[in-house]
Amino acid sequence: MPDLVLSDIRKDFGAFRAVDRVDLTFAHGELTALLGPSGCGKTTLLRMIAGLEEPSGGTIRLGETDLTGTPPHARKFGMVFQNFALFPHLNVADNVCYALTIAGTPTARARARAGELLDLVQLADFGQRRIGELSGGQRQRVAIARALAQEPEVFLLDEPMSALDAKLREEMQVELRLLQQRLKITTIVVTHDQREAMTMADRIVVMSQGRCEQVGSPQEIYHRPANGFVASFIGRANFMSGRVRNGAVQVAGWTLQAVPAPAFIDGSQVTLALRPEKARLGADLPVGNRLPATVTFLRDVGATRDIHLDTPAGPMVVEEVTDRGTGLHVGAQTQVYLPPDALHLFPAEPVAA
Ligand code: ATP
Repeated sequence: MPDLVLSDIRKDFGAFRAVDRVDLTFAHGELTALLGPSGCGKTTLLRMIAGLEEPSGGTIRLGETDLTGTPPHARKFGMVFQNFALFPHLNVADNVCYALTIAGTPTARARARAGELLDLVQLADFGQRRIGELSGGQRQRVAIARALAQEPEVFLLDEPMSALDAKLREEMQVELRLLQQRLKITTIVVTHDQREAMTMADRIVVMSQGRCEQVGSPQEIYHRPANGFVASFIGRANFMSGRVRNGAVQVAGWTLQAVPAPAFIDGSQVTLALRPEKARLGADLPVGNRLPATVTFLRDVGATRDIHLDTPAGPMVVEEVTDRGTGLHVGAQTQVYLPPDALHLFPAEPVAA
């Protein structure tokens, strides 16, 4: 199956640009998550891919075929949206084979296909149930089976787990991912939940204000954020301001080595980001790259503990596994070590709250 390619896709609502010059390739069989805060344009982008929204500019191609002006029903894309929109007056099997029946598939064949799909989503014994007699997770699986009935070339899901409680959500994320891997179907999932994106996706597209901020594997996005927005939106980060001097960074009068610093022009103002679990406290710290710190708050969250610090570079949070036991208490004076290879540097910019 060919790749799905978006080139220079834009969407304007009056004077407001909701999607801004997006170039993306969705490789066959990959699951891509469109991730970003509310209003960043994820749904609008997905709706353009589905054909439900007309782009203001750019093209959408599946291999050699230009789909930009093709209506939704002619795209052979399967869709699952936030509220599933199942037909309450039909039973489970009829919901799944509805589109096939409407398209003129003989009843016996449509029923056989519904049976296969219900088996696939582990609802083989539920065909005769009414929709009202299903749990949220079961309804979601019916919606997935229904969307897969016509063997779509691309599978589109918009916040498919949003109606489910936290535990079921996590289970369904794994189930959906396993199903998608088994079917090897190109899939695009819109979500604002980074854990959901990290759990399911081969590739994450981080969006902000209609633009793609970074495209990469979950590991790339987390360990090598492209800018301050991505570092703050994906996972947690401590931010500091500094200035590059002689290949190192001056932060509040302290000199810190950072692996990417030599790549910056001397004198440039930078933002430093550090994941809380990368900082280290206590004895036996390496020489250099330390800041004096005072413990201001301790928050035990079970397997890990957040240690809030006051440092010359500003407040900082360090995450430690609780069995490491630093023996710190509020008010304790300590030193925090900032590993040079864990300090991400970006040109100075405002970061998302
Ligand atoms: P959420 O996670 O809240 O669903 P989103 O990232 O999916 O957000 P979109 O629904 O794509 O965001 O909306 C992007 C922007 O475009 C928003 O500012 C929204 O208000 C605006 N927008 C969306 N649809 C329309 C429309 N039909 N007319 C005018 N503005 C719109």
